[in-house]
Amino acid sequence: MKKQVYLDHAATTSLSKEAFEDMKPYLMDKFGNASSLHALGIEAKKALMKSREQVAGVLGCRDKEIVFTASGTEANNLAIKGVAENNNYKGHIITSTIEHHAVLETIQYLETQGVAVTYLPVDRSGLVSTSDLVRSLRHDTFLVSIMYANNEIGTVQPISEIGGLIKKRQPNTLFHVDAVQAPGLLELNVEKLRCDLLSISGHKFYGPKGTGVLYVRRGTKLAPQIFGGGQEQGLRSGTENIPGIIGLARALVNAEKARVKEVIRLTKLRNWLISSISEKIPQAILTGHPGERLANNISFCFPGLEGEALVMRLSERGFACSAGSACATGSFASSHVLLALGLSRDAALGSLRVSLGQGTRLSDLEAFLPALAEEVEKLQSF
Ligand code: PLP
Repeated sequence: MKKQVYLDHAATTSLSKEAFEDMKPYLMDKFGNASSLHALGIEAKKALMKSREQVAGVLGCRDKEIVFTASGTEANNLAIKGVAENNNYKGHIITSTIEHHAVLETIQYLETQGVAVTYLPVDRSGLVSTSDLVRSLRHDTFLVSIMYANNEIGTVQPISEIGGLIKKRQPNTLFHVDAVQAPGLLELNVEKLRCDLLSISGHKFYGPKGTGVLYVRRGTKLAPQIFGGGQEQGLRSGTENIPGIIGLARALVNAEKARVKEVIRLTKLRNWLISSISEKIPQAILTGHPGERLANNISFCFPGLEGEALVMRLSERGFACSAGSACATGSFASSHVLLALGLSRDAALGSLRVSLGQGTRLSDLEAFLPALAEEVEKLQSF
């Protein structure tokens, strides 16, 4: 494989050296089960407690409010299904049309169980309207689930404002935030965000794959979705993935430490690439909000070509990025997010997402720009 310039950090990141070093002993010598009473078990339990403390420190919550899961998807499922089941599948949920499938499909399942759902539209830049949201609140709305930042277009929702509005109108309505794209890029303090439930995933911030966290505000009632040995306060049974949890915690602490400086650096790179693409490829359509967007997200549509083909050609030239549309059973489907922005199907098919990370340098983007322009021209002239 040709060496790749990795520009797909929203899909996943590499494991950081620090996280790996912290995990290593717990993969081999310190392999105890945190439930065992002997010395190896106690060692594992101590490491689990330390990791929980570290994660709680970053989220600004109590240790007991942290539930470790095996992915962001699982954290979203536990939050949404857990609350709905506890509500006997009665009542109403508000969400947006541009959520990740881990939220959308969970909520669509709940609809089949009798839950009423309002899917809030977004404007051309991907923002939900807070007044629409307030108008949609019903006396039986038991949950609002809105993502912090969109994984395709990078638009950042006004989460603190939304949390404040919900709590002012209807303090008993729970607020869940899918914050999987946020660590290392956005504020994660749950008091500032005014949420009751928040999901993150280790592999998006240089932690290991197969790890996640659900923050559950004290007093929030959730029905567990996995039964067994009663780990994680009975909310998520299963022997804890100690090395994974250690790696996630270390990576989260590091991401938060580096955040302010890294956001300044990435924002400059992002703005350079957005304006350079707009200048060099005049028919390119920027998707997502121009300012309220993740510091690492650049997303465009190039009408008249297929995003997947562009991604493959760029890969051959040594650049790893991603298309916003997915190829399912041989037919190209447009992304629900891009269609929700009001883009035409043709434009939505030609989407490209470039997501920057710790290793990205201006020289990478300077090399990427002419390759992109050439491949877009070739594909559009087919
Ligand atoms: N939510 C968002 C916004 C995401 O971007 C992702 C992953 O792409 C997920 C949820 C799912 O997380 P995981 O890959 O850990 O299951």
